Amino acid sequence: MSTNVEHIECLIVGSGPAGYTAAIYAARADLKPVMYAGMQPGGQLTITTDVENYPGYPEGIMGPEMMELFRKQAERFGTDIRYGMITSVDFSGKPPFKLIADENHEILADTVIIATGASAKWLGIPSEEKLNGRGVSACAVCDGFFFRGKDVAIVGAGDTACEEASYLAKICSKVYMIVRRNEFRASKAMVNRVMNTPNIEVLFESETDEILGEDKVTGARLKNTKTGELKEIAISGFFVAIGHHPNTDIFKGFLDMDETGYLKTIPGTSKTNIEAVFACGDAQDKIYRQAVTAAGSGCMAALDAERYLAAKQDA
Ligand code: NDP
Repeated sequence: MSTNVEHIECLIVGSGPAGYTAAIYAARADLKPVMYAGMQPGGQLTITTDVENYPGYPEGIMGPEMMELFRKQAERFGTDIRYGMITSVDFSGKPPFKLIADENHEILADTVIIATGASAKWLGIPSEEKLNGRGVSACAVCDGFFFRGKDVAIVGAGDTACEEASYLAKICSKVYMIVRRNEFRASKAMVNRVMNTPNIEVLFESETDEILGEDKVTGARLKNTKTGELKEIAISGFFVAIGHHPNTDIFKGFLDMDETGYLKTIPGTSKTNIEAVFACGDAQDKIYRQAVTAAGSGCMAALDAERYLAAKQDA
């Protein structure tokens, strides 16, 4: 073992609302947490604009600013925040577990809190990137409100797309659902809900050729996947709901995950299948995915880690 090994009581991997909340609680419990904040500190909220549904901010707050406040609060209680990546882990055997940061720094951690989040999948067309935050969004619950009374479109045919289309239909005048095949992937109940909502129009066998607009979304050009025919729709908002990818690849082979990579935790706790390893936030939640639920689960993870360490000390 190299002389470079660092012993850490509580290592937090990831820095969204879940990671920072875990850090606040762990630091206040004197676990001397060290956080590896990743390459995009603050996570998904740093790419959103106004956050209006997080309690405590009656006027709303910008996502990046909110994450800055979370970071300051975590630092105030002594969290050691490092701008780097955990690049490999070894959860075999018993804790403390060996992890490698930034390819060459060895860490031995008594407890590990995983808060690596998930990333929204995007279509990958240039206009989507250009208009991101200017009418293009991957979160209807976050941004739907800005399109009250307007026409919008949503791409996807899974449960998320159906749920978000139903949500948008309550706020917007009209919701176009852009579905690439001639059928849904979502559960029957969700599909029924969509089909029975008068202001949702499902456009089957359609893909997005281009999102239109210079400074903000004004429309979309769709292509029929069978005939190649192009058609334009006038919209103010364009939502992408084609799935998320949890950032859990480095834990494969050690932690139990579902078929899409979301970490499994014991219901009602943040405990994974490995002793001393806890998971919180979007890395283990594909259903709610809200800043406030992520923060709540980060609190759970820190409390579980603290109790684990206390029980070990008593043993
Ligand atoms: P899914 O992977 O289930 O669905 C993704 C959808 O996006 C599919 O319909 C897919 O089309 C479509 N899609 C993928 N790529 C593209 C593309 N490039 N262009 C156009 N369309 C594309 O993701 P979800 O986020 O909907 O759901 C993830 C999991 O979470 C599922 O297991 C779901 O059941 C669960 N969930 C449950 C909820 C609940 O129970 N309340 C709520 C939300 C999610 P295609 O069908 O053609 O492949």
